[in-house]
Amino acid sequence: MKSQRLNRREFIKTSAASAIGFGIACNDSICVLNQSGELPRIRDYRRLGRTGALISDIGSGVPYSEPVLKTAIDRGVNFIETSETYSNGNNEILVGNVIKNIEREKLFITTKVNLTLGLINSSDDIAARAEESLKRLNTPHIDLYMMHQAQSIVRVADRNFHKACDRLKKEGKIRFRGLSCHGTFWWQEPGGTLEDILMAAIDDGRYDVLFFPYNFLEPDMGERIIQACKSKDIGTMIMKSNPISVFEGYEDILNRGEKLGILEQRDYEKKQVQMGKARDFFRKYRLDDRDKLEKGAYRFILTNKDVSTICCRFRNFSDIEKYVGLSGTTLDTPTAGLLSDFRESLGFLNCRIGCNQCEKSCPVHLPVGTILRYYYYSQSLKERESASRQYRALEGHNTDACRYCRGSCEKACPNDIAIRVLLADANRSLC
Ligand code: SF4
Ligand code: SF4
Repeated sequence: MKSQRLNRREFIKTSAASAIGFGIACNDSICVLNQSGELPRIRDYRRLGRTGALISDIGSGVPYSEPVLKTAIDRGVNFIETSETYSNGNNEILVGNVIKNIEREKLFITTKVNLTLGLINSSDDIAARAEESLKRLNTPHIDLYMMHQAQSIVRVADRNFHKACDRLKKEGKIRFRGLSCHGTFWWQEPGGTLEDILMAAIDDGRYDVLFFPYNFLEPDMGERIIQACKSKDIGTMIMKSNPISVFEGYEDILNRGEKLGILEQRDYEKKQVQMGKARDFFRKYRLDDRDKLEKGAYRFILTNKDVSTICCRFRNFSDIEKYVGLSGTTLDTPTAGLLSDFRESLGFLNCRIGCNQCEKSCPVHLPVGTILRYYYYSQSLKERESASRQYRALEGHNTDACRYCRGSCEKACPNDIAIRVLLADANRSLC
C-alpha cells in the first residue's frame, strides 16, 4: 500500500475540504495529530486464520466518509468491513468509491448479507444480492462474505446461504465465508445464547472467520470462543470493544431524579448507592475523562494475539489518530489493574450484550438484550439516530410493562445490571 505522509498543514487542508464536501465536523482542535505532526500508522498485521491474509490489527468497521476511510487506508488499515444493509447499500458504494483507485490485492474487503429482513432468502436471491454488493463495491470479488447477525443455531446451517456461498466461491466472486453474531432474537427464532450460536458456527466447519463481541467486561466467553476458533484456524473479528460509556447515561438518570414507576422507585436508593460507588471509582483513579479506560479497553483486546482484528468505527480524522495510534500496543500492568477494578466495582453499569439470560424470566418477553444493545449504540458509539430507528422498528420493544413489574429480569441477570432504569432511559432517549 502506498504510504502517504501528511504534514500538519496538508492534513488540516485535507480535513477542511473533507468537512465541506462530506459534512464532517472537523477543525484544528478536533483533528488531533500526534507529536511528530503526522497521523499514526498501523504497526501490527495479523493472520486472519485459515484465509492466510495478513490484516491490520485495527480494521475499519462501518466507514463514515470517503476521505476518512481513504486516510485510514493511507495510514495502513487494510481490512474494511461493511454490509448490504448499512445506509441501504450506500455504505458499500462509499467503500467502492474509495477502493476503486487502490490496488485491490492490498485490501481485504468484507461485506454481509442480512437474512433477517423478511426478504425471500433463496440461494438465488442471496447470490443476486452478492452480485449487487459487488457492483456497489466496485470490485470483481469480495474477500469475505458474511451472514449478518446470525440469530439462532438453526440459522448457522442455513442451506441457502451455504449453497449461494459455494456457487459464488466457485465463480470467484467471494473468497471466504463468515458469520457475525451479537445475540439471539429469541422472539423470532428459538435458539441458544450468543456463545451457543458461535460455537455451532465453529463446529459447522464451513466458516473461515467469525465476528463477535469481546471486551474486558465479559472476557471469559470471548476467550472461550477465540480459543475454539484457534483450534479450527478460524479468523476472529472483534466488535463491542469499548463497553464503558453507558456510565454517563446512568448518571444522567440519577441526576435528573425523574419520576419512576412505583416499583422502580423502590430500587432508586440501590441505584444511588451504585452511582456513589462509580463516583468513588473515578475519584480513586483520578479519571477526569474516559480516555484511559477506553484505550485500555482496546489494548486489552490487542494483548490477545489470537484476535485477528478489532473493527473500529472511524467517524472522523480524530478517530484515526485514536484507534490507529493503538495498533501494536498491549495492556500495561497498571491499566490492567484499572480495568479489573472497573469490572469488579462497576460491572453493574453495562449490559454484557448477548448473554440474554434476563429475557427468559421476563413475563412479557421483552427483548432486553437487544434494547440494551441499541442503547449501547446510542450511548457508547454515539449513534443515536440509527439506534433510535432500530429501536422503533424492534418488535415488542414497549417497556411500559416495566413500570409495574417486580423486575424478575434483574434477579436473573448475573451482572446485577440496573435493567429497569436503563430500559426506561433507552425508551426515553430512543423512542
Ligand atoms: S422489568 Fe419486568 S417487564 Fe421489564 S424487562 Fe424486566 S421482567 Fe420484563
Ligand atoms: S441485562 Fe444482564 S442478563 Fe440481560 S443481556 Fe445484559 S448482562 Fe445479560
